[in-house]
Amino acid sequence: MNVRDSEHMIAELKNKKDYEQTNNIEEADLIMVNTCSVRDKPVQKLFSEIGHFNKIKKKDAKIGVCGCSATHLGKDIIKRAPFVDFVLGARNISKISNIIDRKGAVEIDIDHDDSSYMFDDYRSNPYKAFINIMIGCDKSCAYCIVPFTRGDEISIPLDIIINEAKKVVREGVKEICLLGQNVNNYGKKLDKHINFTYLLQKLSEIDGLKRIRFTSPHPLHMDDEFIEEFAKNPIICSSIHMPLQSGSTSLLKSMRRGYSKKWFLDKAFKIRDLAKDVSITTDVIVGFPGESDEDFADTLDVIDKIRFEQIFNFKYSKRPLTPAIDYDNQIDDKISSQRLTRVIEKHKTYNFDILKDKIGSDYETLFDAIKPDGYISGKSDNNFTVITKGDASLLGEIKTVHIKDRRKNSLIGNMLF
Ligand code: SAH
Ligand code: SF4
Repeated sequence: MNVRDSEHMIAELKNKKDYEQTNNIEEADLIMVNTCSVRDKPVQKLFSEIGHFNKIKKKDAKIGVCGCSATHLGKDIIKRAPFVDFVLGARNISKISNIIDRKGAVEIDIDHDDSSYMFDDYRSNPYKAFINIMIGCDKSCAYCIVPFTRGDEISIPLDIIINEAKKVVREGVKEICLLGQNVNNYGKKLDKHINFTYLLQKLSEIDGLKRIRFTSPHPLHMDDEFIEEFAKNPIICSSIHMPLQSGSTSLLKSMRRGYSKKWFLDKAFKIRDLAKDVSITTDVIVGFPGESDEDFADTLDVIDKIRFEQIFNFKYSKRPLTPAIDYDNQIDDKISSQRLTRVIEKHKTYNFDILKDKIGSDYETLFDAIKPDGYISGKSDNNFTVITKGDASLLGEIKTVHIKDRRKNSLIGNMLF
C-alpha cells in the first residue's frame, strides 16, 4: 500500500509540479520519507534516517515525512526534527502537490476522503499494477494502529476501479493487484449487489487482463461465494494471503479478530480442496499479551495443518492508541524471540518439500526481472519465483515453464511455449 501511495505522490509531483525522480539524495530538491507505523522499529528508524538526509542534502532542499508515522506523530515530528518541512498523513496524500510549498504544514486528518480523488498516473512496474480498491479499516484488532492512521474504511467506487484497470491493460499491464486492508469486505457501504466477488467478476471480463491478485483479504469475510469464485475463475491467481495472527481461539478473541481456530482451519481447508495447487501465505504474531505455551502450541498446530507456503512472522510490538498496550499480561521479550525462532524453524522443516513437490509441474510465468548469466525470473500463477534461460525480450511475457529443480526459495525450469 505504501508503494502505491508513493507512486501516487510521484505522479502528482511529476505532472503538477515538474519534479523528476532521482536516487541521488545529494542532488534532490525534495526528499520524502514514506513511513510505516505498524511496528515500533520503523518509527525509530525514521529519525535517524531524516537526520542523515538533513546532513547530506543540498542547501534549501526540502524534507517531507509522509505515511502512517506522519499521521500518528503529527507535529511532534517537526518538534523533534525542526528541519522537516512538512508532515503528510497516509490519508492525505492527494494534498502532496500543495503541501510541499507550505513550510511547517501538518496534514494528518484521518477523516479526509481520498477515495475518489483522481491521482495522476505513474507506475514503477510496466507489467504489474497495484490498484487501490479501498482506503482505511473499520476493524479494531487490539494490537493494530492502522485504523488510527488510515481512518475509516471507504470503498473506492466500482467504475473508478474498472476504468483504472482498463487503462493499465491498454498500456500493457498483464497483472493487477487489488489493494486494501480487508479487500474482501469491499462494497460494504456501496450498493447492495456490489461486493468483492462481484468486483472480481467484473474485472475478469476485461479484455487483455491476464491475472488478478489481491491483498489482504480477512479470514472473517471469506464466504463460500468468494472462495468458489477464487477457486474457479482462471484470471484470479491461485495464491491467497490468509492472516492467521494466532492459532489460539482465546488469543484470537483478545486480539478481536472475530474468528476462531476452527473457523480459520475450515476456510483454509476449503480453499486447499477447491483451488488447484493454491499457495496460502499468512501473518503470525508471537508474544501477544497473555500468549501461554498452549496458545502458542495452537499456532504451531495450525501451521502444521495448513503448511503455509510462506509465513510473515512478527514479534508483538506495543503500539500507541491500541487497547493491547494496556493489557497487563505482556510477554517477556526473550520468550517472544524464542517463539519467533520456532515459527521460522517450523516453516523451514517443510518448505524444502513444498518446493520439491513442484518439480515436474508446468507453470505459466509472468517474467519481470533479468538474472545474471542469461537467466530471467518471474512469478507463477501461485506466486512462486520461477527462473529459466531467457533475455530481456521476454520481460512482460507469460510463458509456460517446466520445473526441473528447486533452489532455497525458487524453482528452476525449461521454457516450453
Ligand atoms: N489488514 C491486514 C493487516 C495489515 S498490518 C490484516 O488484517 O491482515 C500487517 C500485519 O502486521 C498484520 O497482519 C500483523 O500480523 C502485523 N501487525 C500489525 N500490528 C502489529 C503489532 N502491533 N505487532 C506486531 N505485528 C503487528
Ligand atoms: Fe489492523 Fe486488523 Fe485492520 Fe488488519 S484488519 S489493518 S490487523 S485493524
